[in-house]
Amino acid sequence: MVMGIDEGIKKVSEMLAESEHVVVFTGSGISAESGIPTFRGAGGLWERYNPEEVASIYGFKRDPKKFWSFAKELIVKSNAEPNPAHYAIAELEREGVVKAVITQNIDMLHQRAGSKRVLELHGSMRYVDCLECRNVYEWEYIEKILQIEQPICERCGSDLLKPRVVFFGEPLPYDVLSSAMEESRKSDLFIVVGSSLVVYPAAKLPDMAKDSGAKLVIVNLEPTEKDFIFDVVLYGKAGEIMPKIVEEYKKLR
Ligand SMILES: [Zn+2]
Repeated sequence: MVMGIDEGIKKVSEMLAESEHVVVFTGSGISAESGIPTFRGAGGLWERYNPEEVASIYGFKRDPKKFWSFAKELIVKSNAEPNPAHYAIAELEREGVVKAVITQNIDMLHQRAGSKRVLELHGSMRYVDCLECRNVYEWEYIEKILQIEQPICERCGSDLLKPRVVFFGEPLPYDVLSSAMEESRKSDLFIVVGSSLVVYPAAKLPDMAKDSGAKLVIVNLEPTEKDFIFDVVLYGKAGEIMPKIVEEYKKLR
């Protein structure tokens, strides 16, 4: 049901107070509010980059340089910091009500905001592997190099340095996906923040939660095709709505 912002914030805070195992699912919308460019839609990265070249495993192996200049624009140049929505979600975990965050984002902003249990369906940039000699680099090291040049492996000289993110043509990490499904089934309240729920498994997890008896909430800028299955639908900026929900929730505790 689509609700007005004030009514919705009150309703969701009440739902939080009545729940014990809340799971939050986030997509690119929450990162967009931190200045990270989105992929799909108008102004998205796929208008200027060919996903086959920069985000498929085949394209990457053919020309890692293209991937890295894309990654530079995506992450380094955007210089993104967690926004109030990330902090609000981390606070709900500290409060003990949010048990897990499932995300499609690779930017590590949830962890930087303080979230502990983060299930990264598409991996993250945290570690970068040399596909030739298996040397492992931490993101901070690669990020520094990217400011001036393309990263190459300092041990073997290869340019096949691949971050542990899921490229097109690669499977989702099995253990993360099964934990995400288990958390969705265990949840009594499942909150989607900033996802249009079009790609698998994003489209599936809310159904799994609902089938197991969870209430569903979505906070997104625009309507999605799955809005009809949600108990509360809120259209607006997560960075404005989520902190208010936390504030109201704390009054009820
Ligand atoms: Zn190497």
